[in-house]
Amino acid sequence: MSNRRPQRKRKNRSPYLFALLCALLLTALAAVGATAMNTWNVYAAEAAVTPTPTPTVLPISVTPDPNRATPAPTPVPTPTPTPAPTATPGVLKSGAKGDAVKGIQERLQALGYYSGKLDGDFGSGTKNAVQAFQEVNGLKADGVVGAKTLTVLYADSALPKPGPVDTLEGDIPLLVNKQNPLPVSFEPANLVNVKEKAGSLMTYEKDSIQAVGEAVDALIAMIRDAEKDGVSPWKLREAYRTVADQQRIFNNRVKSYEDAGNTHAQALSITRREVADPGASEHHTGLAFDLNVPGQTFADTAQYIWLKRHCWDYGFIMRYTDEKDEITGITGEEWHVRYVGVKHAQAMRDLDYCLEEYVEYLKGQ
Ligand SMILES: [Zn+2]
Repeated sequence: MSNRRPQRKRKNRSPYLFALLCALLLTALAAVGATAMNTWNVYAAEAAVTPTPTPTVLPISVTPDPNRATPAPTPVPTPTPTPAPTATPGVLKSGAKGDAVKGIQERLQALGYYSGKLDGDFGSGTKNAVQAFQEVNGLKADGVVGAKTLTVLYADSALPKPGPVDTLEGDIPLLVNKQNPLPVSFEPANLVNVKEKAGSLMTYEKDSIQAVGEAVDALIAMIRDAEKDGVSPWKLREAYRTVADQQRIFNNRVKSYEDAGNTHAQALSITRREVADPGASEHHTGLAFDLNVPGQTFADTAQYIWLKRHCWDYGFIMRYTDEKDEITGITGEEWHVRYVGVKHAQAMRDLDYCLEEYVEYLKGQ
C-alpha cells in the first residue's frame, strides 16, 4: 500500500510536470524562432545593402568590354538605391564603345586633339588623342579616361592642343632620340605632300607621304642633280610619321611577340631593339627621309654612294652610321637622311660629328 501511494501521487503530479515541460519547450522554440527570424532579417538587410556582385572575371584579352569593367550590381529594391554606374561613364579605355566615348571624342575634337570619326569607338586614334591631352594638361599620359582626366577634360581650364612647331627654328638643329623624345601632341609646321611637289621624280611607298616643305624642296633639288649625274631611280619609303603612328607600330610589334609566346617584358625588350620608342623617332620632325632603290639593299647601290658624297651640300646628313652607333644608339641606316640645312650639314661633315656630338658642340660654344 505504502508503495502504491507514492506511485499514485507521482501519477497525479505528472500533468503539471508535463505542462511545465511543454511551456519550457514552447519558450525555447519561440526563442529559436526569434533568433532565426533575426538572422533572416539581418541577412535580408545585408543582401539589400551589399548586392551580390556579378562575377568579376576580367577577360585576359586587351579589349575589355566596358560593361564588364564596372559590373552592374544585382538590382535589389532598397529605400536608397545605389546610382547606376551608367550615370557616370566610369573608366573608359581602349575597346570601350558608346555615347560616353562619343562625348569624349567630341570634346577632344573641340580642343584640337582628335580628328577621327565621332563613332563612339575607343580605338587607337582616341587613345592617342587622350594621351596627348593628358600630356599637355599635366596628367599621367596613359590614354585611359578615369575620373581625374574626365574632370580636367570638361573643365573650362582644359588646355587645347598646342600649335604646330617650326622644326627648323633656332640656331641648333632639333635633336630627337631616346633621351630627347617628342611629346605625343607634337606636330611639325609646314607639312606638305611630297608626291604633289616632286611628282614623277621618285616613286613612293604610298601617295600620302608628308614632310616639311623646305626639306622637300631640298630633297627635290638633290634627286634632280643625282639624276643629272645618271644616278637613278629613287624611291621614297617614308618621311613624316606622327608620334601616335610610332606608338601604334610599337604596340603592334609588342603584341606580335606576346602572341608568339613571350611574356610582356620579353616582348617589350625585343621590340625596343627593333623599333624606336614612341617619341624617339626622327621621323616625327618631318625632316627625315627613308630612301630606297626597289629590289636592292640600299648600302650596295650607286644611289647610296652618291648620297653619302653629296647630301651635305643640299642640307642633309647621314643620320645613323655604324661608326657612330655607340653615340646615336642606332645601328647604321644608310637609307635614312635628315635635313638640318646646308650650313649645319656641311659643318657636321667637316667636323665628322653625328647630330648628338654636333648639338653638344654648339651648346658648348
Ligand atoms: Zn628612317
